[in-house]
Order: sequence, then C-alpha cells, then structure tokens
Amino acid sequence: MRNYRSFENMSLVISPSLLCNLRCGFCFQTSFDHSVFLNVRILYEELRPAYLHTTDLLLLGGEITITPGMKEYVRYLKSSFPNIRIAMVTNGAQFNEEWIELAAETGLKVTVSLNASNGNTYHADQSRGNGRKIWKRTLTNVVKTIIKEQQIQRPILDKLSMVITRNTYTDVRSFVMMAFFLRVNVKILYNCNGVDEKSAEVTGS
Ligand code: SF4
Repeated sequence: MRNYRSFENMSLVISPSLLCNLRCGFCFQTSFDHSVFLNVRILYEELRPAYLHTTDLLLLGGEITITPGMKEYVRYLKSSFPNIRIAMVTNGAQFNEEWIELAAETGLKVTVSLNASNGNTYHADQSRGNGRKIWKRTLTNVVKTIIKEQQIQRPILDKLSMVITRNTYTDVRSFVMMAFFLRVNVKILYNCNGVDEKSAEVTGS
C-alpha cells in the first residue's frame, strides 16, 4: 500500500500561553491567566526530537508578542532547525520594530488579526483600552512590516484576518478591499455566537 503520510513532513501548532494584551468580545479564551505559560523545558528539550521531523511550526496565543521568551525561541528554532518554516498569529498591537526585524532575520511568517477596516468598528469589539488607538497602532505595524518586506524583497505578512461579529459584519467588504489594496491575503473567521441571523445573511450574500 502506498504510504501517503510522511514522517519527515510534519507540522506543529504550539500555543504557549493564554496571555493577551487585548480583550476581544468574540475571544474563545475563558482565562487570561498571566501566571501560567508553557515550561521552557517542553519547548527546548521535550520537543527537540520532534523538530527534526517538523517542516512547519505555527505559534498561536493568547498573544505571542507578549509571551516571555518567544523572540529567543524563534531564534533558537531558526538557528538549530533552519529548515522549519515558522509562522505566528498575532493581534499585531505589539508587533513592533523588534518583531519586524526578527521576522526579516528568521523568515517568520505572520498573520495579523486586524479585524476591522477602521478604528470605530474595531473599538466596538474591545472591552479593554481604546480600540481606536489600538487599531491605528496595529495598522501602523502592518504598514511598517510591508515597508520592511520591500527592503528585504521577501514577504513577512502571510494574512490579515478578520472575525465576523455583529459589530463587524458590515465592514467585511471594506476590510477585504483594504487588505487587497495592501496586497495581503485575507482570512475570514465566522463567530456564530456574535452574529445574528440577519447579519449572517448579509455576510453570506
Ligand atoms: S487578541 Fe486573540 S487571544 Fe487576545 S483577546 Fe483577542 S481573540 Fe482573545
């Protein structure tokens, strides 16, 4: 029988903590416990044999940019296992120059959960802080990342993602057009708890 699964071609998805600097109304997390995160021994020692067979590794939160030790971990992966393609999902609010440089250095690919085409829509789903300012900062980080891409002539941004809720469904078209205008791919996620039947119809049309 043909073996269509290869032991040499595996992917790993790691969510090392629940830490997050935002509080999105649609968040799947029920805890944001800042005192608990994955023991570094697991990342560096227990998983080491697995890295030899890994081609794609995705880091998810919580929020990776505020999880301690993540920049060092990405550097470790890149220097010890240069064949692994590393990717991460971030809300982008703290995806600052340091992270952009790291991505340029290591080939890290990034999906940014921008979630709206404007600050007012974004703000409507945030229960902490000024969503308008956070959205502006996140978009600035996205633009800085695109400028960096031009310098290194390699993509860093993989996708801009948006969760559709009752606050954002009317913004879908503008969001997708904005992302396309920036030449970035889009990921749309449907949050059924946050969207009523009427809005679901509109987004589906
Ligand atoms: S950025 Fe992600 S983890 Fe953080 S609150 Fe929003 S949905 Fe939850």
